[in-house]
Amino acid sequence: GAPDPEAGAAVKAADRAHVFHSWSAQELIDPLAVAGAEGSYFWDYDGNRYLDFTSGLVFTNVGYQHPAVVAAVQEQAGRLTTFAPAFAVEARSEAARLIAERTPGDLDKIFFTNGGTEAIEHAVRMARLHTGRPKVLSAYRSYHGATSTAINLTGDPRRWASDSGAAGVVHFHAPFLYRSAFYATTEAEECARALEHLESTITLEGPATIAAIVLETIPGTAGIMMPPPGYLAGVREICDRYGIVFVLDEVMAGFGRTGKWFAAEHFGVVPDLLTFAKGVNSGYVPLGGVAISAAVADTFATRPYPGGLTYSGHPLACAAAVATIEVMEREGIVEHAARLGETVLGPGLRELAARHASVGEVRGTGAFWALELVRDPATREPLVPYNATGEANGPMAAFAAACKKNGLWPFVNMNRTHVVPPCNISEAEAKEGLAALDAALSVADEYVA
Ligand code: PLP
Repeated sequence: GAPDPEAGAAVKAADRAHVFHSWSAQELIDPLAVAGAEGSYFWDYDGNRYLDFTSGLVFTNVGYQHPAVVAAVQEQAGRLTTFAPAFAVEARSEAARLIAERTPGDLDKIFFTNGGTEAIEHAVRMARLHTGRPKVLSAYRSYHGATSTAINLTGDPRRWASDSGAAGVVHFHAPFLYRSAFYATTEAEECARALEHLESTITLEGPATIAAIVLETIPGTAGIMMPPPGYLAGVREICDRYGIVFVLDEVMAGFGRTGKWFAAEHFGVVPDLLTFAKGVNSGYVPLGGVAISAAVADTFATRPYPGGLTYSGHPLACAAAVATIEVMEREGIVEHAARLGETVLGPGLRELAARHASVGEVRGTGAFWALELVRDPATREPLVPYNATGEANGPMAAFAAACKKNGLWPFVNMNRTHVVPPCNISEAEAKEGLAALDAALSVADEYVA
């Protein structure tokens, strides 16, 4: 539609008066009033249009307003908008079948939740009941969600304010060669030492106290660190040796984001539990879940699972999932994301890194990439300090502002920008985004020592 600044001002005013926003100091934020969105773009009421390199919060894997998914939600709303979880309902049955057919190995039973956080909460509960053990291991530099267990598993500063110290979570270092905790200089060294560190953590904590190891297959918000070859297979082997449940969190990495249906496929590993959300239905209606192995499902074959949700497998959300999965198959979106990573985003970002001193490292696969921005390429000092706010975060704020000025909405976290567009973004759109990044990186370069 035509620009309508007055309407935008009203939307903004009501937001400022009444909406309490996530993760924010309420009076220090300035949310953009959004008028509409389609495909890889959204626009405001003043006539500004942005190419979305964030996919929302990395969930619009088929872009905004995909007509087939919108139609499926409308059709389901007309037929059976809602129904209680204890019944067998077509959309729920079909979504579970389509998901189970795509998850690796014997992850064939699906417990539906409203999002990723709840999926993690339930995966941990299942693991604790399955093993009879209390503790859970997770990585520093991770994000697993925002309620009590999930936020305590999370390995970033958002945990600190909610850290109960009593959640039974122990953190360890996962591999990250660029900022190695192990003084490693090669991927093979990093992998071997990270596995040694994990195993000694288990030995010292007491294997018989550990229910689960929870890892993002490829850590997302924390920086898209690709696990070195052999690492996840090594974790699988350690879990098997100690009777620990292996949980892979694919809330962000799943459903085509990495150029496979699930990122676990890149590494040939099958976890005992796999959590998903976001891309499962492109975030059109809230949905998440846990894919459950035969062994864990068997624990609850004749013993009730003590957990549930009013909206578990909500028909609207499940209809959106069915349509999203069908669209991804029909339009070859998973293969498109893989090709985009290999031929456009990977080469394009590496080319930017070669020309911009502020880019310390490029990492990723598919439609899932991170640029690590640095003040000094030699020392790898981050462009802004860990968890910087205000003045200290100035260089990243300047970088983000430059992106927006060039019509690109960037994903920014600490000293990184992530390139996580819809998995079906066209090659031309992706190149348009890379050009805007190019200009914004020149702003970041000004802060390089
Ligand atoms: N796990 C991972 C890997 C995530 O990236 C997120 C959200 O960003 C979550 C869990 C939490 O999901 P939600 O915000 O849907 O509760």
